[in-house]
Amino acid sequence: MSKKKKGGHGNLTLYIVGAIVAAIVLSLAAPHVATSLEVGGEIFLRLLQMVVVPLVMASVMSGILGLGDVRKLGRPGGYAVLYYLCTTMLAVVTGLIVVNVISPGYKVPQKLVEDAREEGAAAVEEAKNALTKETRIITWSRLFGSDQLTLNSKTSSSVSNAISVPAGQELVVLVTIDQSGVATTPAKVTVEGWSEGEDFHAITWEDSEGNEKTELVAEKEPETYTFVVPIPEEIKKVRLNYEAQEGGASSTVRAEVIRGSPTIYDIFKNLLLMLFTSNLLESMVEMNLLPIIIFSIVFAGMLTTMGKRSEPIANLVVAINDALMSFILLLMNLAPLGIFCLVAARFGKAQLEGQFLELIQVQFYYMITVLAGLGIHAMVTLPLMLWIFTRRNPYRFMLQMSQAVLTAFSTASSTATLPVTMECAEVNAGVSKRSTEFVLPLGATINMDGTALYEAAAAIFIAQAYSLIRPDFDLTLEQQFTIAITATLAAIGAAGIPEAGLVTMLIVLNAVGLPLELIGLILPVDWLLDRFRTAVNAFGDSVGAAIIDGSFDKEEAG
Ligand code: ASP
Repeated sequence: MSKKKKGGHGNLTLYIVGAIVAAIVLSLAAPHVATSLEVGGEIFLRLLQMVVVPLVMASVMSGILGLGDVRKLGRPGGYAVLYYLCTTMLAVVTGLIVVNVISPGYKVPQKLVEDAREEGAAAVEEAKNALTKETRIITWSRLFGSDQLTLNSKTSSSVSNAISVPAGQELVVLVTIDQSGVATTPAKVTVEGWSEGEDFHAITWEDSEGNEKTELVAEKEPETYTFVVPIPEEIKKVRLNYEAQEGGASSTVRAEVIRGSPTIYDIFKNLLLMLFTSNLLESMVEMNLLPIIIFSIVFAGMLTTMGKRSEPIANLVVAINDALMSFILLLMNLAPLGIFCLVAARFGKAQLEGQFLELIQVQFYYMITVLAGLGIHAMVTLPLMLWIFTRRNPYRFMLQMSQAVLTAFSTASSTATLPVTMECAEVNAGVSKRSTEFVLPLGATINMDGTALYEAAAAIFIAQAYSLIRPDFDLTLEQQFTIAITATLAAIGAAGIPEAGLVTMLIVLNAVGLPLELIGLILPVDWLLDRFRTAVNAFGDSVGAAIIDGSFDKEEAG
C-alpha cells in the first residue's frame, strides 16, 4: 500500500547496524564511558514506550473502523491466533530438537551447577514476586507470613505454634532449613497435621521416586535446604516439629503454607483472565495490552453500529492514529543515536561485571544451542511460512523489517518495539494497514516464538545439568511433552519486556519438578539471549501480519 519514504530505510538500517557495532566496540574498550550513556538510551526507550498504549488503542480502533464491521475481523482474527499458536509450537519443537542434539547441559562443570543453585535462590524470590505482582499465569501467594511458623530456638528441639489451613485448596508447606556451621547430626523437621478426631501426627508423602517420607533431613554442610510437603485434604492445622542439629553452629527453620504447583488448568485459567480487566486505566499504566485490545475492538465495534452519530469520534481516532504514526517516523530518525546509547550502556555494564568472560567460558554450549534454535526459526521456518503463504521473497522482507528487528535487539522489549514494527511493516514492507493495525498489536502480546523456543531449550538444558548432581533424575519423554506445552503457554503469557521470559521460566521448571534455583545457571547470559529472542519475537509478529494480510483480501473480495 503506502510506499512513502521508499529508499530511505536502507540507509537508516545501515546507520543502526553501524550504531550497534560501534556501541559494542565502545563497551568492550571503555565500559565506563559506555555505561554513562545510559540516560540517552533510556530517553529513546521512554519515547517508544510513551506511544505504545495510545497507538495500540488508536490503531486497533482505526483498523476496525476501516473494515466497517467488527464481524469482518472474525476470520482474519481466528487465522491470526491460529498462525501464532502454530509458529510458537514450531519454535518450541525446534528448541527441543536442538537442545537434545547439542545436549549443552551435560557439558556444564558439576561445581557450577551446585554454585548456580545458591545464586539462583535470590533470583527465584525476585521472579516469584514479579509473577505475583503481575498476576500473570500463576500466583505464588503466601497464605501465611513465614514468621508464624518460624522456630527461633536455634539449638534446642521444639514444636512450633499450630496454624489453621484453609479448606478446599491444594496447599503445600515450604520448609527452609538455614544451617550455619558443619553439623555432626543434621537438623530434622517433621510437618505435623491435625484433623478432626485425631491428634497431631506426622504428615507422610511420596517423593519423586515414590518412596514414602515423613521427615525432612538437612545435610551436614552449612547451606539453605528447602523442602516441599503437600498437605492432605483432611488436615485442618499444621505445625512443625524440629530436631536441632548437633555439633557445628546452629540452624533456623522457616516454613510457610503456599499454594501447590499450578496445574495446566490453572495456567489456562489465568491466561484467559489476562484478556479481561476490571480497570482499563490500570491496564494502561501497566502496559497490559491484551485487555486494551479487547476494549478497543468492542468500542470500535460499537462505533460502527452507530451510523452518523459516531463519525466525529471515528474521525478523531483515525487522525490520532495518523499523528502517532508520523511521530514514530520522526522518532526513527533518532534511532541510530538511541540504539547506540542503549546497546553501549547494557554491553558496558556486562563488560564491567565480567559477564562477557562468563559467557564464553561456561555457557558457551548453551548459548550456541539457543542461538542455533533461534537462527533456524528465523532463517528457515518463518521464511518458509512466508514464502508458502504469500510467495514473497522472505529475505527481502527481512531486510524491510530490519529496523524493527534491530530495535527489538537493542531494547529487548517487543512491546517497546511495536511502534517501529508497525511502521516498518506498513511503510517498508507494504503490509496493508488493515493487517498491521490489528495483527501486530495482538502479535506483540501473545506471539513470542523466540521466548517459547528459549523456554523449552533452557528447561531441558537445566534438566540435563541437574542430572549431573542428581544422577537418579531422568527426563522422560512425557516430561519433555509437558515442557513443550508449558513453554508455549508461558510464552503467550510473558510480557513484552526485558527478561520476562526468565520469570515465566519458573512455570516451566515447576511443571516438571525441577529445582527453581537452577535458573541461576542461565542467569548470567540471559540479558544477551533476551535480545536475540526479542528480535525473533518481533520478526515472527511481522511475518504473521504479512501472511494474515491475504486473508483480509479474500474476505473483502468474498
Ligand atoms: N524480552 C522479550 C520480549 O519483549 C520477552 C522475553 O523475555 O523473552 O519479547
